[in-house]
Amino acid sequence: MAKKLARKAKATKPRTATLRQAQGRPEQGRGTKRGTRKYVYFFGSGKAEGDRTMKDLLGGKGSGLAEMTNAALPVPPGFTISTEACNLYYSEGRKTPAEVDRQMLEALRKLEKAAGAELGNVKNPLLVSVRSGAKFSMPGMMDTILNLGLNDETVEGLKARTSNGRFACDSYRRFIQMFGNVVLEIPKEAFEHEFEHAKQARGAKLDTDLDEQGLRDVVRRYKEVVRSRVKRDFPQDPLEQLRGARDAVFRSWNNARAIEYRRIYEIPDSIGTAVNVQAMVFGNTGDRSATGVGFTRNPATGANEFYGEFLINAQGEDVVSGVRTPQPISELEKVLPAAYKQLRQITKRLEKHYRDVQDFEFTIQDERLYMLQTRNGKRTGYAAVMIATDLVDEKLISPKDAVLQVDPESVSQLLAPVFEPKAWKALPVATKGLPASPGAASGQAVFTADDAVEWTRQGKKVVLVRKETVPDDIHGMFVSQGVLTATGGMTSHAAVVGRQMGKPSVVGAGALEVAEAARTAIVGSKTIKEGDYISFDGLTGEVKVGQVPTKPSEILQVIAGEMKPAQSDVYQRFEKLLTWADKFRRLGIRANADQPDQAETAYAFGARGIGLCRTEHMFFGEGRIPIVQRMILADNESDRRKALNELLPLQRADFYGVFKGMHGTPVTIRTIDPPLHEFLPKREELMVELAKMEVQGRKDEEYANKQKLLRRVEQLHEFNPMLGHRGVRLGVTYPEITEMQTRAIIEAACQLAKEGTKCVPEIMIPLVGHVKELRDQKAVVDRVAAQVMKEQGVKIQYLVGTMIEVPRGALTADEIAAEAQFFSFGTNDLTQLTFGFSRDDIGKFLGAYQDKKILDKDPFATIDTVGVGALVAMGVQKGRGARPTLKVGICGEHGGDPSSIHFFEKVGLDYVSCSPYRVPVARLAAAQAALAVKVGD
Ligand code: ADP
Ligand code: MG
Ligand code: MG
Repeated sequence: MAKKLARKAKATKPRTATLRQAQGRPEQGRGTKRGTRKYVYFFGSGKAEGDRTMKDLLGGKGSGLAEMTNAALPVPPGFTISTEACNLYYSEGRKTPAEVDRQMLEALRKLEKAAGAELGNVKNPLLVSVRSGAKFSMPGMMDTILNLGLNDETVEGLKARTSNGRFACDSYRRFIQMFGNVVLEIPKEAFEHEFEHAKQARGAKLDTDLDEQGLRDVVRRYKEVVRSRVKRDFPQDPLEQLRGARDAVFRSWNNARAIEYRRIYEIPDSIGTAVNVQAMVFGNTGDRSATGVGFTRNPATGANEFYGEFLINAQGEDVVSGVRTPQPISELEKVLPAAYKQLRQITKRLEKHYRDVQDFEFTIQDERLYMLQTRNGKRTGYAAVMIATDLVDEKLISPKDAVLQVDPESVSQLLAPVFEPKAWKALPVATKGLPASPGAASGQAVFTADDAVEWTRQGKKVVLVRKETVPDDIHGMFVSQGVLTATGGMTSHAAVVGRQMGKPSVVGAGALEVAEAARTAIVGSKTIKEGDYISFDGLTGEVKVGQVPTKPSEILQVIAGEMKPAQSDVYQRFEKLLTWADKFRRLGIRANADQPDQAETAYAFGARGIGLCRTEHMFFGEGRIPIVQRMILADNESDRRKALNELLPLQRADFYGVFKGMHGTPVTIRTIDPPLHEFLPKREELMVELAKMEVQGRKDEEYANKQKLLRRVEQLHEFNPMLGHRGVRLGVTYPEITEMQTRAIIEAACQLAKEGTKCVPEIMIPLVGHVKELRDQKAVVDRVAAQVMKEQGVKIQYLVGTMIEVPRGALTADEIAAEAQFFSFGTNDLTQLTFGFSRDDIGKFLGAYQDKKILDKDPFATIDTVGVGALVAMGVQKGRGARPTLKVGICGEHGGDPSSIHFFEKVGLDYVSCSPYRVPVARLAAAQAALAVKVGD
């Protein structure tokens, strides 16, 4: 049997075998049969079989308890049943294999020796806790049972040994409640209800007001609850209790809470939880006892201060469950000074040892301190940057460690305006959407972009609420505090533009019913009318009805020149961390920016180049749309050229500004990309307007023009515009557009050259799938560039390249590279065209895909390395094969996504380009990617 099991375990779980086991370290602990896998790891009497490197097998809690034991800290003895045993429990059809049980009993004997007490011994009972603990901490998601081993007899033994009947009965009633709830699955309320009755019967206000007799009454009532609910007596056999608790903890890995938590934090379902069985220590023996939790530094602000809470005369669960209000940890110094002093010493040591902030649990039993848990503390992004820079200053870690320690998303949190925390907490959550762009937004709801502009002009702060946003909402988005939409995904228009502007955005809030015409939105039972205050957090996606004050981030104030760097501690640390990151990264960082101010911001954030300047965004600028429309409406080349000539000086000025903003670093400009109808009014709108005019009997020139417009709109109508007349196809059919854009670019560059400022334009042709498309456009660019330089009498350097965003482009990258001097992977369209998913419609089914585990992540947010990534890798390889000097970057939304950046590092791109506000994140992620690839591969 044992052999069969071992074989099975090896066959099913080779991936969780630790390094140590792979290297042949004790597969078989003392007493286990040769060739049997080890499932149970003991800790106690100053020695543990596990250590900090064994989180995969022992979970975070088990590995921390082992490590603390080895460091001779006061940890109650116990043992850890491995995550492998949990996986076996499931693969055996929810049964713990006999071998695991055997090893558990063996470890139990050892524990009894170390603790000097025996499970179930009436005179001297050992009590244990049975605690869950996975590799990644999942606070409160799984179950723990305290005081196991108590029954009607041992409770009297405990009373006799401690001469404390109240304590013994208090422990017993806690145990029945926890066991009843977790193992026997009786709702908590059933017990709480009885507890209240017992208190009432004795006129007790607080739990602690109940005396021994009162608690005996509670125990009696609890046992009755068990009997009536599960039709049997509360189990008296401690071994049966232990096995039941162990299996219940295994089961708690798959309760709804835990599953949801893993989904949110992307923790694999397959890793399982460990179970820790540990001798109890008691914080509930009286006024010289206590229990608490804490952090070595403040996890919200990062301040180097001891941080935590405790309760006198209580057990662990009480602190977090809120039955009593805990005291701040500083008070502990006054009540139990010796234990407090020891706690500070130990936690300082732990922080040094782990070289990171520790989140710890402790219990004081009759003035003696015990450590029950330690782990690296979770913290806000703000705190993460503060702590990492402090730890370097304190010489606890190196700059490289600091760069590796801070989650790249943390730095984007530093840029966002923040809510005043108290005011935010005071409001209930109305709904939740996708957190598209971080930051706090609060303002009056408006439902159209024009209203947003108008209300802002009147000095109001608005939040733009839309069903979805379209390119011509841009002016409204720009003036709003934030943008909230009911549809769309993380790369929908609203999200992309929101991020580029650094505008807090929540998109795809499906529960929101937006009626733009009626100027209302309904969420649940609430109706939000125009002008009602609404607030949301772009970092969490939470939306609330009401007004919440915000404050701007200091870093943005410094970047905007409104504050001196020396005045802002946060800015200095931010800059310090990113300068360290720059030392370790290989990837260049560029930004996607179309306007001079965006270019300046990107540069200030550390971008050295623009990877994507979308020229069509410039067409939406003030007063330009009519000219653009005239260009589109022209039915002959000469009229089209007239309109283009009007656009020329405007585009030239744009490019001049962008080049200047980038201080001589390269700027990639994409020629016109979207289908032309995006610049025209909607067909339905025009028809309504025409009908109105007809009713009014108007047949004037305006009417005729509108009719003409309608005809053109109908002509331009496409069944599938994303696959229609757009990108390079526009340039091929209307070369005069490419000519005008080239002229604007080269003239701006020449002007700067004359002023003594260098700039290197890189002209990028979008949507190329065939080398001949590029050849056609390149000829136009080269011809016009030569002409302009001759006119201007200046020679400048420029490149012509292409976006690789059509699968055929990647597949024929070698042919294309013969013409292209650079590639930029347009991973938004490449993802769209590789999967055949429309990025604006993916929101409709992505949720179902994720629930059914067809897709892990939104492929528009994190690159699909297997499919889309394969095309990128192939494009790089074929492209460089044909042209070794080929410059290769990526300008899709993935350029600002840390895990995608890891992939781009691996395939050897030269740079990533992302929105200006993602640049700091990309700098840090690129450094981490370079370090990981160096260390790992
Ligand atoms: P969680 O992961 O939800 O914090 P834990 O397993 O850490 O669950 O335990 C819940 C509470 O019980 C904690 O406050 C912990 O300190 C306390 N506790 C766990 N084991 C013991 C023990 N052996 N003696 C005393 N208190 C314990
Ligand atoms: Mg805990
Ligand atoms: Mg594209």
